[in-house]
This record gives sequence, structure tokens and C-alpha cells, in this order.
Amino acid sequence: MAEKFFVTTALPYANGPFHIGHIMEYIQADIWVRFQRMLGHQVHFVGADDAHGAPIMLKAEAERITPQELVARIAAGRPKYLRGFHIGFDHWHSTDSPENVALSQDIYRRLKAAGLVYSKPVEQFYDPVKGMFLADRYIKGECPNCHSKDQYGDACEVCSSVYAPTDLIEPYSVLTGAKPVLSTSDHLFFRLSDPRCVDFLNAWTGAPGRLQPQVANKAREWLSGKGEQALGDWDISRDAPYFGIPIPDAPGKYFYVWLDAPIGYLASLQSYFASGKAKENGEPRSFEEFLGAPDTRQIHFIGKDIIYFHTLFWPAMLKFAGPPYKVPDNVYVHGFITVSGEKMSKSRGTGISPLRYLDIGMNPEWLRYYIAAKLNANVEDLDFNPDDFIARINSDLIGKYVNIASRAANFITRHFEGALDCGAGTEALRRQAADLAQQVRESYAAREFGRAMREIMAHADRINQDFDARQPWVLAKDPARRSELQEICSRTLYGFKLLSVLLTPVLPEVGGRVARELFGLDRPFRWPDALEPPQRVNSYQHLMTRVDPKQLDALFETAGPVAASGTAATPAAEHAPGRASSGAKPAAAKSGPGSSASGAAGAAAGSATGESTASAVTLSIDEFKRLDLRVARIVAAEHVAGADKLLKLTLDLGTATRTVFAGIKSAYDPAALTGRLTVMVANLAPRKMKFGISEGMVLAASNESGGPYLLSPDSGATPGMRVS
Ligand SMILES: [Zn+2]
Repeated sequence: MAEKFFVTTALPYANGPFHIGHIMEYIQADIWVRFQRMLGHQVHFVGADDAHGAPIMLKAEAERITPQELVARIAAGRPKYLRGFHIGFDHWHSTDSPENVALSQDIYRRLKAAGLVYSKPVEQFYDPVKGMFLADRYIKGECPNCHSKDQYGDACEVCSSVYAPTDLIEPYSVLTGAKPVLSTSDHLFFRLSDPRCVDFLNAWTGAPGRLQPQVANKAREWLSGKGEQALGDWDISRDAPYFGIPIPDAPGKYFYVWLDAPIGYLASLQSYFASGKAKENGEPRSFEEFLGAPDTRQIHFIGKDIIYFHTLFWPAMLKFAGPPYKVPDNVYVHGFITVSGEKMSKSRGTGISPLRYLDIGMNPEWLRYYIAAKLNANVEDLDFNPDDFIARINSDLIGKYVNIASRAANFITRHFEGALDCGAGTEALRRQAADLAQQVRESYAAREFGRAMREIMAHADRINQDFDARQPWVLAKDPARRSELQEICSRTLYGFKLLSVLLTPVLPEVGGRVARELFGLDRPFRWPDALEPPQRVNSYQHLMTRVDPKQLDALFETAGPVAASGTAATPAAEHAPGRASSGAKPAAAKSGPGSSASGAAGAAAGSATGESTASAVTLSIDEFKRLDLRVARIVAAEHVAGADKLLKLTLDLGTATRTVFAGIKSAYDPAALTGRLTVMVANLAPRKMKFGISEGMVLAASNESGGPYLLSPDSGATPGMRVS
């Protein structure tokens, strides 16, 4: 019987392009959605941009555009990524939409009517120059514990202590540098601590199969907290100026972005229904009827940094808003993506730019396969390792799977005009196919994609061994053994068809081509096709190339090694609103960014994607002073084997020597660089690159029409001098 699913991924914050963490999450959800559809289930898969909040308001202001213009610009860039990685959302919308305004205000009114909203004065830092209340992220000062300077308002990045912004010594506004003053304003709160909410959430989080065990445990921990750890009520309002949805009965107040962000799931679904696409997708009912139906399963895929919002606030909001709103059936949580074991961060720059991945012509299905092969149902981080990537694609996907088809199909088209016949063994093969399909089906359904890939590849091994043992190339020379040749090649191609059907959720493009080109189907594969022995095969067309290790060099080279422009990767990036929240503790969640830094800890965007790195904030003099710029002499410059863009520079800083990999090979001959002076950022965290550790960066200027041009000091400057 066909099931009905409403599936979402976390909404990306609309202040920048997708990073690899988003793409990983979308690929995970997309594989699951395609799998369900192949089984004949009805799935409505929607996404949206999370558009509201102070970070977007301030970034737009800095660029002298409206927040709507900023959000529209970011949204315009989305399809390229989604199409590029074959991510098949049925609809993409925005939280800054009429649907979301109406839904958010409706849910708020219902919660208020249920007695779960109240008002309370809150004393908070206020920037008198900017005329706005300051979120913790926009306040810095000296840590009250270890006395490190320039720490954020909620926690110290040096000693990790957590405190209130009012505890900071000499606090200042990150926006203007002004000394903030304490001011009081009435805020609206959602009464999460209400016994009705707590009882409901205990039951909801404890329902068998609803949440992964780790996630359910975490939620129970929060729910049972005592004293300081007790479940707090939730501040859902922000004062103007704020880019958000006005609160209907509270002039000058707006919903905190985290209130309307998840409601954006429903807004996107509503807009999708209004567009008529739901009907095309097999759903005749209205949005309200579908949403409220008991057989509609509501599924959210999210990252581990936003568990708090999705397992406490969100289900409680939906529950007490009442029908047609319905609580989520499942929230599926994944870990972060790391690169060669390191957490991605904007400041350190290890990361993969998804756009660069596509731009340099890497096959999106390689990444889909690699991610599938490494995903399981637990909340575990997934590591992207370049050597592992090459091995899994070239030896598994190409060596074991793709190559089977080319080897067997050629014999059949050459000697049998495409006719297949597995002979007496057909029934045994069908049973084998049914067993494997059942196993793999269970793995996909449980989101154990890695296990599914292992099961598929183990079968590919058996097919290859069988094929090799029968030596068809020998059989082909002996006319008396024609039927043996046809049988072994037919068995092999039956196996290839089986594998192709099972891989189609992961490799939709290849699966589609195999169905159409090789086996002559007029539609994509469905799950039951796995069992059917093919009758004919067409001549084999090349399906997929191997990874060239040089492509990975190219992928990582510009993922942030150099200062191609003077402003890239300055400490300004650290203030970017996407600042990682490392885990799921409520303190981090409360002060967290607008919405979902869904996969990666921080963004891998920046200069690599050509996206402007203009900061949302003006730099204060103190922040500029954090940059340690030094005159450096290039004592050696050399080519790096295997790198297209990098030169390895040895820099003399007077008292120390540093190695820096700089992306200036296109503009400079190493010999011409030796001996000259330049300027380097000396206090950049060392960055592990494919070719070694880079211990800083040199400054160079560039734009679309030229560069990079290295900076040089006037004569008289000597190595080690501070640039200020
Ligand atoms: Zn500290």
C-alpha cells in the first residue's frame, strides 16, 4: 500500500551560498526520497530559504541593498547547486513569503489562546549608536574567567567558559564599537516549561522508532533537567529594527527567526500545493487536508546542531497549535562533514566548495556515491578523505560496477544481436535477486546507506568472479560453446541490471541511462525491475569515467589556500553569522545562528565560490589590530609537484621562517620571486593542505580582469616589521 510522505531538509540561512554540509544533507534526503518513490510511495519533498533575522538585515545594510534583494540574490544561485547534484526538491520557497507570515501568525495566535505565551521584561545590552538591542553574537569583550580579549557575549573561545554578556569586562558592540548600555524591553515567551508541554514531549520523544536513540537520549536529558539545567521558556520576540514577521498584537515586535524558520517547511508545502505540483505528483487533496491527514508522514532531515529546536520547540508548537498542524513523525539527524579528519571552518578554510566541485567538471554522482557509502543511521560525522574518495570511486563504482556492463554487453551485441538468455539458471538467479533486493531495501529504509552500498558491491564482486571464472573471451573463440557464452554474459547483464536498479536512488543519472539506453525501457527503473531478467541489451555506451587524482588537487587548491585578494579570509569571517555551534547544548542553540548550519561546522564558501566576502559588520580598530601583518622576505619559491596553481614560498620574518602555499603560480615565475619583500598575515592558524602545512598567507591584489599582484613595501622596510 502506497504511503504518503512530506519530507524536508533543514532550511539554509539565506546569507550565503550552500556549503558542502548542506549538499551532504540534501543528498542524504534525496536518496531516501528517490528510494521511497521507486517503491511506489507518494513523496512531497520541499525546501526553502531561511530569510529572516538580524544577520541578514545587517549584511544587506552593509551592502546597501534591501534584505529582500539579498535573499533574492542568494536564492537565484540555489538551482545551479541543486540541479548540479541531482537533488530533486519538488519545490523551493522562502520564509519571507505571504504563506509563512499567515502560518506563523496563525500558529502564534493558537499558542496564545492555549495559554502558552506570556510577556516578561528582559534586560539586555543595547547599542545606543545603532539603536538596537544586541544579540550575544554582536557583543564582545574581555573574558571574565581567563581575561582573553575580544570574546563573544556568550562563551569564551579560549577557555570555553560560558557566561552572560553582562559578565564581560569592557564590553563593546561589534557593530559600532560603542559601549553597550543595559536597557529593558518586554519580550514574549513560549511556555515550554508548562507541564502540558513537558508531558507531551516526554511521550513524543519516547515513541519507539521516532528518533535515533542518541537523539532521544539528548532530548530526555533536556526534558529532565533540574536547577540551572531545567527546561527554560523560549524567548520568541525581537524588537525593531528586525527583519522578520510582525507579531500581530505587539506593535514594534517581530518573531524571533527561529520561530518562523521551521514554519517555513509548511509555507513551502502550501506554496507547492498552490502551484498545482502536488496534484501532478498524485495528491488530489488540499494543503490542509493533506497536512492534517493521519496517514501523512511528516519527516525532517536535519544536522546535529539543531536538535534542540526540532525535538522540543517545533513538535510542541505544532502540537498545541492543533489541527491541521500535526507533529513530525520522524526527525532524522546526521553529523557534520569533515575533510581529512578536520572540522571545516571558514577561518581555517579546510573545506570543499560544492560549486567548485561542479565547475571543474567532477561528476556529481561520484560525490553522491561517496556520501552514500559513508552514511549510516547514527549521528556520526562523515569524513571526506581524498584518497579514500579516489579508491571508492575508481575501484568500487567503476572497477566493480560500471565495468561489468561493458565487458558483457559487447559479447552479446557482437555475437547474439542483443538477445539475452540465462537458460536453466533463470529461476535461481531470480531468487538471488529477490534476496539481495530485500536486503538492500531494508538498508535504505533504515537510512543505512553505507550498508546498502556494501551489500551491492559484495554482489558486484560475485558477478565479476563468476564472469572471470567462465572466461567468456575463450568461449567466444569456440563456435561449439556459443550457448555457454550467451548464458554467462546474460547472467552477468541480469546482475548488472539488478545492481543498477538498487543503485538508482544514489545514481539517478546513470540508473536512468542504463534503463533507457542499455535495456530500452521508456521510463526510469522502479524497485520491482530488480527482479526481472532482461530480454535484450543494446550496445554499451560509456557510462562513467574514473576520477583523475588531479581533479582532487584542483578541488582543494582553491578551497582557501591563499589571499588572492587582500580582504579575503580576514578575521571578519569569524563574525559571519554562520558561526558554528559545535553541538547540541541548549546554551549554544539559544544563541545559535538564524537557522540551520545544517551539515558543516561553518561554511566553506568565501572566495572559493567567487561569493563576495563583504562582512556584515564594520571592523572595529581592535579587530583590525588582531591581524598580525608582517613584512616578509621570500627566501625560496618553488613549484609544487601536482599543483596547478600553487607555489611553495619560504618566508623570512626576521626571527622566524614560515612556509606558505600561495596560489600565484599563474602570475609569477618562482625564480623572479626569490629575494623580494612582501606582506604576510602572520597569525593565521596553520592550515593542512594536500601538499603540506601552510603557515600563513601572503597578500595579493586581484579582480576579474587581472592578478594576482603581490604587495610589496617601500624600500627601507625589513623582514619582521609590523604592518599597521
Ligand atoms: Zn576565557
